[in-house]
Amino acid sequence: MSDLPNCPTCNSAYTYEAGSLLVCPECGHEWSSSSPSTQEVARVWKDANGNLLQDGDSVTVIKDLKVKGASSMLKGGTKVKNIRLVDGDHDIDCKIDGFGAMQLKSEFVRKA
Ligand SMILES: [Zn+2]
Repeated sequence: MSDLPNCPTCNSAYTYEAGSLLVCPECGHEWSSSSPSTQEVARVWKDANGNLLQDGDSVTVIKDLKVKGASSMLKGGTKVKNIRLVDGDHDIDCKIDGFGAMQLKSEFVRKA
C-alpha cells in the first residue's frame, strides 16, 4: 500500500494515482500530487487574542512599542489600517500616521 493522501474534499482514503494526478473514486475530485503536503500547512497570522489576521485588516496596537529610528513610542491603542502580512520576525507590514512604513509583530496587535 502506498501512502497516498486522503481526498482533500471528502477525506476518502481510497485515492489512487493517475499520472501526475491523484483521483478520488468516491467524489471524483482530482488534484495534483506534486504539490507538497507542506502547502496545506499554510502559514497563518494571529493577533494577540488568537484571531486570524488577513491582508487589509485593521488592527489596534495593544501596548506601547519602541519604533526603530523614531523619536517617539508607538502608543498602545494606535489604529493601524490596511496591514500586509509578511514572513519574518516582524510579520506585519503597515503604514502608520506619523511614523510611515514600518513593521509590527502580530502578537502585539489586536484585530480592530
Ligand atoms: Zn473525495
